[in-house]
Amino acid sequence: WAKADGRARWTLFDSERNAHRMTRQALSSTLRPAVERGEFTLEFQPIVGLADDSLRGVEALVRWRHPQLGTLGPGQFIPLAEENGSIVQLGRWVLAESCRQARRWQLEHSGDPLFVSVNVAVRQVWDSDLVADVVTALRESGLPAGLLQLELTESAVMGTGGRPLQTLRALSSMGVRIAIDDFGTGYSNLAYLSRLPVRTLKLDGTFVSGFRVSSPRNPADETIVSSLVDLAHKLGITVTAECVEGQAQADRLRRIGCDTGQGWHYSKPVPADSISALLGA
Ligand code: C2E
Ligand code: MG
Ligand code: MG
Ligand code: MG
Repeated sequence: WAKADGRARWTLFDSERNAHRMTRQALSSTLRPAVERGEFTLEFQPIVGLADDSLRGVEALVRWRHPQLGTLGPGQFIPLAEENGSIVQLGRWVLAESCRQARRWQLEHSGDPLFVSVNVAVRQVWDSDLVADVVTALRESGLPAGLLQLELTESAVMGTGGRPLQTLRALSSMGVRIAIDDFGTGYSNLAYLSRLPVRTLKLDGTFVSGFRVSSPRNPADETIVSSLVDLAHKLGITVTAECVEGQAQADRLRRIGCDTGQGWHYSKPVPADSISALLGA
Protein backbone atom coordinates (compact mmCIF):
# COMPACT_ATOMS: atom_id res chain seq x y z
CA TRP A 1 0.00 0.00 0.00
CA ALA A 2 1.12 3.49 -0.51
CA LYS A 3 -0.32 6.72 0.66
CA ALA A 4 -1.64 8.41 -2.44
CA ASP A 5 -3.35 11.76 -2.29
CA GLY A 6 -4.07 12.89 1.20
CA ARG A 7 -4.46 10.78 4.27
CA ALA A 8 -7.67 8.98 3.30
CA ARG A 9 -6.84 7.47 -0.07
CA TRP A 10 -4.70 4.40 -0.43
CA THR A 11 -3.72 2.66 -3.60
CA LEU A 12 -3.00 -1.00 -4.00
CA PHE A 13 0.13 -1.16 -6.12
CA ASP A 14 0.56 -4.87 -6.74
CA SER A 15 -2.70 -5.46 -8.56
CA GLU A 16 -2.22 -4.01 -12.01
CA ARG A 17 -4.65 -6.59 -13.31
CA ASN A 18 -7.49 -4.89 -11.51
CA ALA A 19 -6.72 -1.33 -10.70
CA HIS A 20 -8.55 -1.44 -7.44
CA ARG A 21 -8.67 1.70 -5.46
CA MET A 22 -10.24 1.72 -2.11
CA THR A 23 -10.19 4.23 0.60
CA ARG A 24 -8.50 3.22 3.78
CA GLN A 25 -11.81 3.94 5.40
CA ALA A 26 -13.65 1.41 3.24
CA LEU A 27 -11.18 -1.35 4.00
CA SER A 28 -11.23 -0.48 7.64
CA SER A 29 -15.03 -0.60 7.87
CA THR A 30 -15.20 -4.04 6.24
CA LEU A 31 -12.85 -5.64 8.76
CA ARG A 32 -15.48 -6.45 11.34
CA PRO A 33 -18.00 -8.04 8.92
CA ALA A 34 -15.10 -9.89 7.29
CA VAL A 35 -14.32 -11.56 10.62
CA GLU A 36 -17.97 -12.65 10.84
CA ARG A 37 -17.94 -13.91 7.24
CA GLY A 38 -14.85 -16.00 7.91
CA GLU A 39 -12.59 -14.31 5.36
CA PHE A 40 -9.45 -14.73 7.46
CA THR A 41 -7.10 -17.65 7.37
CA LEU A 42 -3.96 -18.68 9.21
CA GLU A 43 -0.56 -19.76 8.02
CA PHE A 44 1.95 -21.31 10.36
CA GLN A 45 5.70 -20.84 10.45
CA PRO A 46 7.89 -23.51 12.06
CA ILE A 47 9.91 -22.66 15.17
CA VAL A 48 12.92 -24.95 15.23
CA GLY A 49 15.36 -26.09 17.93
CA LEU A 50 18.75 -24.74 16.82
CA ALA A 51 20.71 -27.56 18.46
CA ASP A 52 19.05 -30.38 16.52
CA ASP A 53 16.82 -28.76 13.87
CA SER A 54 13.75 -30.30 15.54
CA LEU A 55 10.31 -28.82 14.99
CA ARG A 56 9.16 -27.43 18.34
CA GLY A 57 6.24 -25.19 17.54
CA VAL A 58 4.67 -22.86 15.03
CA GLU A 59 3.74 -19.20 14.93
CA ALA A 60 0.24 -18.47 13.64
CA LEU A 61 0.20 -15.61 11.11
CA VAL A 62 -3.09 -14.22 9.87
CA ARG A 63 -4.02 -13.47 6.23
CA TRP A 64 -7.16 -11.90 4.81
CA ARG A 65 -8.68 -13.63 1.79
CA HIS A 66 -10.31 -10.51 0.51
CA PRO A 67 -13.08 -11.23 -2.02
CA GLN A 68 -11.95 -8.38 -4.34
CA LEU A 69 -8.34 -7.69 -3.46
CA GLY A 70 -6.99 -11.22 -3.12
CA THR A 71 -4.88 -12.32 -0.18
CA LEU A 72 -3.71 -9.48 2.04
CA GLY A 73 -0.84 -9.78 4.52
CA PRO A 74 -1.09 -8.56 8.11
CA GLY A 75 0.87 -5.40 7.36
CA GLN A 76 -2.03 -4.32 5.15
CA PHE A 77 -4.81 -4.64 7.72
CA ILE A 78 -3.52 -5.20 11.28
CA PRO A 79 -2.74 -1.48 11.74
CA LEU A 80 -6.30 -0.64 10.59
CA ALA A 81 -7.76 -3.29 12.89
CA GLU A 82 -5.75 -1.88 15.79
CA GLU A 83 -6.97 1.59 14.99
CA ASN A 84 -10.68 0.81 14.81
CA GLY A 85 -10.71 -1.81 17.54
CA SER A 86 -11.75 -4.74 15.34
CA ILE A 87 -8.43 -6.35 16.31
CA VAL A 88 -10.23 -7.56 19.44
CA GLN A 89 -12.69 -9.69 17.39
CA LEU A 90 -10.04 -10.71 14.88
CA GLY A 91 -7.57 -11.57 17.65
CA ARG A 92 -10.20 -13.67 19.39
CA TRP A 93 -10.76 -15.65 16.19
CA VAL A 94 -6.99 -16.10 15.63
CA LEU A 95 -6.62 -17.38 19.18
CA ALA A 96 -9.52 -19.84 18.91
CA GLU A 97 -8.50 -21.12 15.47
CA SER A 98 -4.84 -21.49 16.51
CA CYS A 99 -5.85 -23.56 19.52
CA ARG A 100 -8.18 -25.76 17.44
CA GLN A 101 -5.44 -26.39 14.89
CA ALA A 102 -2.75 -27.12 17.50
CA ARG A 103 -5.11 -29.58 19.16
CA ARG A 104 -5.67 -31.33 15.81
CA TRP A 105 -1.92 -31.75 15.36
CA GLN A 106 -1.62 -33.04 18.90
CA LEU A 107 -4.30 -35.67 18.24
CA GLU A 108 -3.08 -36.74 14.79
CA HIS A 109 0.58 -36.97 15.73
CA SER A 110 2.04 -39.17 18.45
CA GLY A 111 5.43 -37.50 19.06
CA ASP A 112 6.19 -34.46 21.19
CA PRO A 113 3.28 -32.08 20.62
CA LEU A 114 3.88 -28.73 18.92
CA PHE A 115 3.14 -25.50 20.71
CA VAL A 116 1.34 -22.73 18.87
CA SER A 117 2.47 -19.14 19.25
CA VAL A 118 -0.17 -16.46 18.79
CA ASN A 119 0.39 -12.73 18.27
CA VAL A 120 -1.54 -10.55 20.69
CA ALA A 121 -2.15 -6.86 19.99
CA VAL A 122 -1.86 -4.12 22.59
CA ARG A 123 -5.62 -3.56 22.58
CA GLN A 124 -6.33 -7.18 23.41
CA VAL A 125 -4.45 -6.65 26.67
CA TRP A 126 -5.86 -3.22 27.45
CA ASP A 127 -9.39 -3.11 25.95
CA SER A 128 -10.61 -6.68 26.24
CA ASP A 129 -10.64 -9.58 28.65
CA LEU A 130 -7.73 -11.53 27.20
CA VAL A 131 -7.71 -14.02 30.06
CA ALA A 132 -11.38 -14.90 29.47
CA ASP A 133 -10.75 -15.31 25.72
CA VAL A 134 -7.79 -17.61 26.39
CA VAL A 135 -9.77 -19.69 28.88
CA THR A 136 -12.58 -20.08 26.31
CA ALA A 137 -10.21 -20.95 23.45
CA LEU A 138 -8.44 -23.60 25.54
CA ARG A 139 -11.66 -25.10 26.87
CA GLU A 140 -13.40 -25.26 23.51
CA SER A 141 -10.39 -26.74 21.71
CA GLY A 142 -9.17 -29.05 24.46
CA LEU A 143 -5.61 -27.76 23.93
CA PRO A 144 -3.44 -27.99 27.06
CA ALA A 145 -2.45 -24.50 28.25
CA GLY A 146 1.23 -25.48 28.08
CA LEU A 147 0.97 -25.76 24.30
CA LEU A 148 -0.12 -22.15 23.91
CA GLN A 149 2.39 -19.31 23.70
CA LEU A 150 1.30 -15.69 23.43
CA GLU A 151 3.53 -13.11 21.72
CA LEU A 152 3.26 -9.61 23.10
CA THR A 153 5.34 -6.63 22.14
CA GLU A 154 7.22 -4.61 24.70
CA SER A 155 4.79 -1.75 24.20
CA ALA A 156 1.90 -4.02 25.26
CA VAL A 157 3.48 -4.82 28.60
CA MET A 158 5.52 -1.71 29.40
CA GLY A 159 2.54 0.51 30.13
CA THR A 160 1.98 1.94 33.54
CA GLY A 161 -0.67 0.51 35.79
CA GLY A 162 -1.39 -3.02 36.84
CA ARG A 163 -3.38 -4.34 33.88
CA PRO A 164 -0.67 -6.02 31.82
CA LEU A 165 1.00 -7.42 34.92
CA GLN A 166 -2.24 -8.92 36.26
CA THR A 167 -3.09 -10.33 32.85
CA LEU A 168 0.34 -11.88 32.36
CA ARG A 169 0.33 -13.36 35.86
CA ALA A 170 -3.10 -14.90 35.35
CA LEU A 171 -2.11 -16.41 32.00
CA SER A 172 1.21 -17.64 33.29
CA SER A 173 -0.37 -19.29 36.33
CA MET A 174 -2.64 -21.20 33.93
CA GLY A 175 0.48 -22.55 32.23
CA VAL A 176 0.33 -20.36 29.12
CA ARG A 177 3.79 -19.23 27.98
CA ILE A 178 4.50 -15.57 27.43
CA ALA A 179 6.94 -14.41 24.76
CA ILE A 180 8.10 -10.88 24.01
CA ASP A 181 7.92 -10.33 20.24
CA ASP A 182 10.33 -8.20 18.18
CA PHE A 183 12.65 -7.82 21.15
CA GLY A 184 15.29 -5.21 20.49
CA THR A 185 13.11 -2.78 18.60
CA GLY A 186 11.56 -1.06 21.59
CA TYR A 187 12.81 -0.18 25.02
CA SER A 188 14.53 -3.55 25.41
CA ASN A 189 14.38 -3.20 29.13
CA LEU A 190 15.38 -6.67 30.22
CA ALA A 191 15.48 -5.59 33.87
CA TYR A 192 11.80 -4.66 33.66
CA LEU A 193 10.84 -7.72 31.63
CA SER A 194 12.56 -10.00 34.13
CA ARG A 195 9.95 -8.95 36.69
CA LEU A 196 7.18 -10.20 34.42
CA PRO A 197 6.42 -13.89 33.92
CA VAL A 198 8.20 -13.93 30.54
CA ARG A 199 9.40 -17.31 29.25
CA THR A 200 10.85 -16.35 25.89
CA LEU A 201 12.34 -13.41 24.02
CA LYS A 202 11.88 -13.33 20.28
CA LEU A 203 14.89 -11.44 18.99
CA ASP A 204 13.90 -9.12 16.21
CA GLY A 205 15.08 -9.93 12.71
CA THR A 206 17.10 -6.72 12.48
CA PHE A 207 19.66 -8.24 14.88
CA VAL A 208 19.94 -11.44 12.96
CA SER A 209 20.23 -9.81 9.56
CA GLY A 210 23.46 -8.19 10.79
CA PHE A 211 24.92 -11.71 10.98
CA ARG A 212 26.62 -12.18 7.67
CA VAL A 213 29.67 -14.37 7.74
CA SER A 214 31.22 -13.04 4.55
CA SER A 215 30.46 -9.40 5.23
CA PRO A 216 29.46 -8.83 8.83
CA ARG A 217 27.51 -5.64 8.56
CA ASN A 218 27.89 -4.85 12.17
CA PRO A 219 30.24 -7.00 14.27
CA ALA A 220 28.73 -5.46 17.40
CA ASP A 221 25.45 -7.24 16.64
CA GLU A 222 26.96 -10.61 17.43
CA THR A 223 28.40 -9.34 20.71
CA ILE A 224 25.06 -7.81 21.65
CA VAL A 225 23.07 -10.90 20.76
CA SER A 226 25.51 -13.13 22.58
CA SER A 227 25.30 -11.00 25.74
CA LEU A 228 21.51 -10.84 25.49
CA VAL A 229 21.27 -14.60 25.22
CA ASP A 230 23.55 -15.08 28.26
CA LEU A 231 21.62 -12.57 30.31
CA ALA A 232 18.25 -14.04 29.28
CA HIS A 233 19.44 -17.53 30.21
CA LYS A 234 20.62 -16.32 33.62
CA LEU A 235 17.11 -14.96 34.13
CA GLY A 236 15.58 -18.29 33.09
CA ILE A 237 14.31 -16.90 29.78
CA THR A 238 14.74 -18.73 26.46
CA VAL A 239 15.57 -16.96 23.20
CA THR A 240 14.09 -17.44 19.73
CA ALA A 241 15.77 -15.74 16.77
CA GLU A 242 13.47 -14.37 14.06
CA CYS A 243 14.33 -14.06 10.37
CA VAL A 244 16.93 -16.81 10.18
CA GLU A 245 17.49 -16.75 6.45
CA GLY A 246 20.64 -18.83 5.96
CA GLN A 247 22.76 -21.67 7.25
CA ALA A 248 25.54 -19.33 8.39
CA GLN A 249 23.15 -17.38 10.59
CA ALA A 250 21.73 -20.58 12.05
CA ASP A 251 25.27 -21.80 12.83
CA ARG A 252 26.23 -18.58 14.55
CA LEU A 253 23.04 -18.46 16.56
CA ARG A 254 23.57 -22.04 17.66
CA ARG A 255 27.15 -21.30 18.75
CA ILE A 256 25.97 -18.30 20.69
CA GLY A 257 23.53 -20.56 22.53
CA CYS A 258 20.29 -19.22 21.13
CA ASP A 259 17.56 -21.82 21.76
CA THR A 260 15.22 -21.73 18.78
CA GLY A 261 15.01 -20.09 15.38
CA GLN A 262 12.39 -19.16 12.86
CA GLY A 263 12.80 -17.96 9.31
CA TRP A 264 13.01 -18.75 5.63
CA HIS A 265 16.07 -20.95 6.20
CA TYR A 266 13.68 -23.43 7.85
CA SER A 267 10.39 -22.57 6.23
CA LYS A 268 8.17 -19.74 5.12
CA PRO A 269 4.76 -19.55 6.77
CA VAL A 270 2.69 -22.42 5.31
CA PRO A 271 -0.91 -23.71 5.47
CA ALA A 272 -1.87 -26.07 8.29
CA ASP A 273 -1.79 -29.12 5.98
CA SER A 274 1.88 -28.57 5.24
CA ILE A 275 2.65 -28.70 8.95
CA SER A 276 0.68 -31.96 9.19
CA ALA A 277 2.79 -33.29 6.33
CA LEU A 278 5.99 -32.29 8.15
CA LEU A 279 4.73 -34.17 11.20
CA GLY A 280 4.16 -37.18 8.99
CA ALA A 281 0.55 -37.34 10.08
P1 C2E B 1 5.96 -11.05 13.57
O1 C2E B 1 5.10 -11.51 14.68
O2 C2E B 1 7.31 -10.54 13.91
O3 C2E B 1 5.99 -12.25 12.53
C1 C2E B 1 7.08 -12.57 11.76
C2 C2E B 1 6.99 -11.97 10.38
O4 C2E B 1 8.25 -12.17 9.75
C3 C2E B 1 5.96 -12.66 9.49
O5 C2E B 1 5.44 -11.70 8.60
C4 C2E B 1 6.81 -13.66 8.73
O6 C2E B 1 6.26 -14.04 7.50
C5 C2E B 1 8.08 -12.85 8.52
N1 C2E B 1 9.25 -13.72 8.33
C6 C2E B 1 9.39 -14.98 8.75
N2 C2E B 1 10.61 -15.46 8.44
C7 C2E B 1 11.27 -14.49 7.80
C8 C2E B 1 12.59 -14.39 7.23
O7 C2E B 1 13.40 -15.31 7.27
N3 C2E B 1 12.92 -13.20 6.68
C9 C2E B 1 12.06 -12.15 6.65
N4 C2E B 1 12.48 -11.03 6.07
N5 C2E B 1 10.81 -12.21 7.17
C10 C2E B 1 10.42 -13.36 7.74
P2 C2E B 1 3.90 -11.53 8.35
O8 C2E B 1 3.21 -12.85 8.28
O9 C2E B 1 3.76 -10.60 7.20
O10 C2E B 1 3.41 -10.82 9.67
C11 C2E B 1 3.83 -9.51 9.95
C12 C2E B 1 3.43 -9.09 11.33
O11 C2E B 1 2.01 -8.97 11.45
C13 C2E B 1 3.84 -10.08 12.42
O12 C2E B 1 5.19 -9.88 12.73
C14 C2E B 1 2.90 -9.67 13.53
O13 C2E B 1 3.41 -8.56 14.24
C15 C2E B 1 1.66 -9.24 12.78
N6 C2E B 1 0.66 -10.32 12.84
C16 C2E B 1 0.57 -11.43 12.11
N7 C2E B 1 -0.49 -12.17 12.48
C17 C2E B 1 -1.06 -11.50 13.51
C18 C2E B 1 -2.20 -11.75 14.36
O14 C2E B 1 -2.89 -12.77 14.27
N8 C2E B 1 -2.48 -10.81 15.31
C19 C2E B 1 -1.73 -9.68 15.47
N9 C2E B 1 -2.07 -8.82 16.43
N10 C2E B 1 -0.66 -9.42 14.70
C20 C2E B 1 -0.33 -10.32 13.74
MG1 MG C 1 5.10 -12.65 16.21
MG1 MG D 1 8.17 -11.28 15.72
MG1 MG E 1 9.37 -9.21 13.80
